[in-house]
Amino acid sequence: MREIIIKSSVPLTSAQKQRLEKGLREADKSEELRFRYVIDAIVGGVMIVDGEDVYDASVASELRRIRKNSEKILHSHKDGVSVKDIPDLLKSKLSEMIDHKPDFEHCGKVISAADGVIKVEGLNNCRYGELLLVGTGGFALAMNLEKDTVGAIVLSDADSAEYGDYVYTTGKIIEVPVGEELLGRVVNPLGMPLDGGKRISGDETRCIESPAPQIIDRQKVSEPLETGILAIDSMIPIGKGQRELIIGDRQTGKTSIATDAIINQKGKNVYCVYVAIGQRAAGVGKLISTLKKHGAMEYTTVVLTTADDSAPLQYIAPYTGAAIAEQFMYDGKDVLIVYDDLSKHAVAYRAISLLLRRPAGREAYPGDVFYIHSRLLERAAKLSDEMGGGSVTALPIIETLAGDISAYIPTNVISITDGQIYLESELFHSGVRPAINVGLSVSRVGGQAQRPFIRKVSSSLRLDIAHYRELEVFAQFGSSLGDSTKAVLDSGAKTVEALKQNEGEPMSFLKEAVSLYAVSNGFLKEIPLRCVGAFLRELYDHFEEKQPALLRSLSDRGALDHREEIRFNEVIEAFVKEFTERHAEQ
Ligand code: ATP
Ligand code: MG
Repeated sequence: MREIIIKSSVPLTSAQKQRLEKGLREADKSEELRFRYVIDAIVGGVMIVDGEDVYDASVASELRRIRKNSEKILHSHKDGVSVKDIPDLLKSKLSEMIDHKPDFEHCGKVISAADGVIKVEGLNNCRYGELLLVGTGGFALAMNLEKDTVGAIVLSDADSAEYGDYVYTTGKIIEVPVGEELLGRVVNPLGMPLDGGKRISGDETRCIESPAPQIIDRQKVSEPLETGILAIDSMIPIGKGQRELIIGDRQTGKTSIATDAIINQKGKNVYCVYVAIGQRAAGVGKLISTLKKHGAMEYTTVVLTTADDSAPLQYIAPYTGAAIAEQFMYDGKDVLIVYDDLSKHAVAYRAISLLLRRPAGREAYPGDVFYIHSRLLERAAKLSDEMGGGSVTALPIIETLAGDISAYIPTNVISITDGQIYLESELFHSGVRPAINVGLSVSRVGGQAQRPFIRKVSSSLRLDIAHYRELEVFAQFGSSLGDSTKAVLDSGAKTVEALKQNEGEPMSFLKEAVSLYAVSNGFLKEIPLRCVGAFLRELYDHFEEKQPALLRSLSDRGALDHREEIRFNEVIEAFVKEFTERHAEQ
């Protein structure tokens, strides 16, 4: 009689025992068998001890085995891929995307994975910012190089990296497809199309991170970049190569200003890039259809991340946009790039940094949060003529909370940019749209690039409005006002009215010139406040119809000579008379 010991972690049922005994007796009929059941800490499964022989089907031994020769066992992947197949799989996957030549000699393993951030063990030759391959088709970006481990952010689907996945270095910094084939496309930050269109060939690629142009390669901002928004082009002018911040609370028309600026570049030979960082999908959908409606997608690329994209993808989106814009710039083109918005970018970076266990600073942002924005915005430039004379104009957007522009991220970006357009909820809700607070908005370099005619006719606007806002406070008390005060209030209110503009209706230079001329030379005095908008519209139509020669010389030379100016005044005077008479009758 031979005794067989059966170990299990929980007591076996009699049915289980019977089945086991029957099977074992059939396997060995030579001798009578006796069974003894033992409860043991083997986690799960059973273990059968037959004298010297041990048949171990316990979970504990399985775990030991995995730990011991983890390199040899089959890679327990969903599709049952074995370890040796992985390099080939990755290779084919990779060549589908970008033409990288991965270095398969160097391989590490994921030892922790959470929320799009992984820790990798065994990557000794990894470089900062290097692209890594994870599992059977994921990508990651090396961010933290520590003594034994590398911290990386997963760029593909956040769930694509799991504990135990193999990780390979590629020897490459991330590159994305660039060039004219991206015009009219909507892509994700890795350059993959999101618009259902054809594959992007990626014949031309560019590193998403590259040094900003040197001082010697730049020249000063000297050409205007017209946004078509009267208030901006007159008082806060933007030049090609400038970085102008659009800042304001939520729902104050920030995106609309950027969109109008893009629409206004139609026919001006300026390429545009719109980078959506963690935006609502519906909002971006609306923006893209607006651009399409105005025929602006032809010269625009949209780099899209929505709020449900992972933090790493949101983090690299603006750098991808910058790379696309830069390629055009070095080809001698003028480019306008919008980053909508950098507050969400900073939040995405904070999430990554905290997961990478970097020390947190003010408002829990890491210490280098300034650097991520400064190195991005420094890439905007007007290149010297020797370099081709191209330019990148950047319009970063920052969202404030309750108008607090002295918070951490807003002050950072204000200090990096060459000025800001400050939008105010209060103005927006009182119907002043675009809701630009003229007192707090400034453009530090655009003035040099402004067209002389526009500069001349808008030189007094800023002061007028400031004066008006100041007196407006007193006027609220309802006390009797002097005539001169009334005149200031009246003209101020009309100026503010004249600068109101609907979204999606950017103005041409000539229309702006005519409107501003009428406003700043006091022609609105006789016009009732509610008719100001209609008056300016009709005035321009009148010029277009009756005075094309005057408009032509204005557009050709950008200025009027003395005789033309007298003629200009006469035409407007006559039109004012006609307009007031027409409205008096009504
Ligand atoms: P968010 O904080 O959600 O990104 P935002 O500051 O980018 O908002 P927009 O989305 O541009 O603001 O605009 C908010 C709303 O105001 C939109 O419904 C838009 O149609 C409207 N709006 C923006 N500008 C104007 C304008 N000049 N005239 C009339 N309506 C406008
Ligand atoms: Mg917006």
